[in-house]
Amino acid sequence: MKTLGYAAQNPQDPLGPFTFERRSLRDNDVAMDVLYCGVCHSDLHQARNDWGFSRYPMVPGHEIVGRVTAVGPKVTRYKVGDAVAVGCMVDSCQECDQCRKGEEQLCRQGNTQTYNGVDRVTREATQGGYSKQLVVREEFVLRVPDGLDLSKAAPLLCAGITTYSPLRTWNVGPGSRVGVVGLGGLGHMAVKLAIGLGATVTVLSRSADKRSDAMELGADALLVSSDAQAMKAAANSFDLIIDTVPVKHDLKPYMPLLDIDGTLVMVGQVGPIDEISSIPLLLGRRRIAGSPIGGIAETQEMLDFCGKKNILPECEMIRMDEINQAYERMERSDVRYRFVIDLATLS
Ligand code: NAP
Ligand code: ZN
Repeated sequence: MKTLGYAAQNPQDPLGPFTFERRSLRDNDVAMDVLYCGVCHSDLHQARNDWGFSRYPMVPGHEIVGRVTAVGPKVTRYKVGDAVAVGCMVDSCQECDQCRKGEEQLCRQGNTQTYNGVDRVTREATQGGYSKQLVVREEFVLRVPDGLDLSKAAPLLCAGITTYSPLRTWNVGPGSRVGVVGLGGLGHMAVKLAIGLGATVTVLSRSADKRSDAMELGADALLVSSDAQAMKAAANSFDLIIDTVPVKHDLKPYMPLLDIDGTLVMVGQVGPIDEISSIPLLLGRRRIAGSPIGGIAETQEMLDFCGKKNILPECEMIRMDEINQAYERMERSDVRYRFVIDLATLS
């Protein structure tokens, strides 16, 4: 099946229209029309080859909401017309201990990324959701709960699950004190989800500019990370800090903010971290951890949780041909708080 998308052809040039093939349906495949696709900071990193393993042409997009148009003969869970979603992975080995536990993101053989990955059967490049159609095996298709606004649900598939998973891993609930570093796409979802789970939430931002936004999102406070006095006053006041900053940054100011046994979990930056001292780790039995997206079962759990609580991201809808300006704005942190592409604008 021929489909139309938007692709990066190399790390420098703007994305542009690109026609390519989607595979014919395998027995367990679901085909869908893509309705909406969120724009993740990872799309920008990958389009620009910030992580050094990009392959071109690349059709980014891993926050995908669509409607089923056809199913393979062995598909049991979805039928034509269903509202479905796809996140950051489209396959895994399905056999290792992690896959069997539903932690496909940690597949021992490596999961197959929705784009800039390699199809496990054909060895062809996978291509993502900045496109009109998508074909994905049933096991990696999610159901969008009834009543959830389809035009806003897409960012849950990456920003949502990437922040929900550590909140669940570290047992956040009523009484938990959560800090969120960086109020962007991931950060604002971390705030909404942590509040939904009953936690007390503080946003840690580079300036006070987003204070009223943070309050409107339901946060209890905004702490300006460059305000040394305010940071000092907040010592020992968090059980979990979720750090969403996309670039290398100094972790030292955040360590004393953790209470005993507290954890700073990095979900943003990929690469070497700045030198830190073991002293705050040893003395407070504090931890630094990382967390990648989440498993399929947990992603469905998160979608159902958002459906029940009507938790949705703050979205700015864009046309497909506005993607390059959206990337420039994202680089300047000028997005409140997620761009979502309306694929109806691509023809
Ligand atoms: P985003 O919307 O651009 O938000 C990032 C936020 O970080 C900004 O709003 C800003 O918040 C803060 N920030 C930006 N530049 C900074 C700098 N130079 N120093 C300090 N803070 C800075 O990005 P996103 O889509 O949330 O993605 C964030 C990161 O998560 C990206 O690196 C992405 O690749 C990664 N990611 C990881 C996973 C995973 O599986 N772990 C999944 C998805 C994305 P303030 O203005 O409030 O300071
Ligand atoms: Zn993402």
